Amino acid sequence: MSLTLYKKKRSFKETPEPSGKTKSSRRGLKFVVQKHDATSLHYDFRLELEGVLKSWAIPKGPSLNPEDKRLAMMVEDHPYDYRTFEGTIPEGNYGAGTVMVWDEGIYEALGYERESIKDQEKILLQELKKGDLKFVLHGEKVKGAYALVKIKGRGENAWLLIKKKDDEASKTDITKKDRSVLTNRNLRQIAEETGGKIKEKKSLVKKRPKPELLSHDRVREVKKKSST
Ligand code: MN
Repeated sequence: MSLTLYKKKRSFKETPEPSGKTKSSRRGLKFVVQKHDATSLHYDFRLELEGVLKSWAIPKGPSLNPEDKRLAMMVEDHPYDYRTFEGTIPEGNYGAGTVMVWDEGIYEALGYERESIKDQEKILLQELKKGDLKFVLHGEKVKGAYALVKIKGRGENAWLLIKKKDDEASKTDITKKDRSVLTNRNLRQIAEETGGKIKEKKSLVKKRPKPELLSHDRVREVKKKSST
């Protein structure tokens, strides 16, 4: 696995993000979901595999509801140490904005939970190449079996993250849980404490009440008045 693209996109003199080294965990494969307030708010889903973090950007974030199919855009591999990165990437740098460690934990290859980590990695790697990854997540917010499936005919990078039906499946909207599993801070607090700024979000602005629907007659009346 290579971190060339990751390094190429970043200037480590300017960004507090970890520089690229490969490393692996011994006690189970790790995953992390980072909430990232960049140009648009999204969740970065990362799975440890062969010393790096395979990464997908998920605009709507993961769901516990098997009916949701969440678009996941594959991005460049990230270094293993990135899984604990929380802070602000300064303006002018790639991915500028505030990053929160939203969820983390161990994951396993679905159906191969009893195999060694090495063997699970082999299986996961084959599934990754086939564009059909199946795994079980043991996070604080995201739990249970998932599939990450490559969308055919949509270029190289478009995948879908889909919850499988199991005891963890639920309609609870986990994206409403908005604090870091590492520091219990929300994005605003992380931004304030790491020199960042939260971008104004449309969804945070109070919606104006919808204007009453005008009947055709009323529209004509209004037009007449405004033209005189
Ligand atoms: Mn991101």
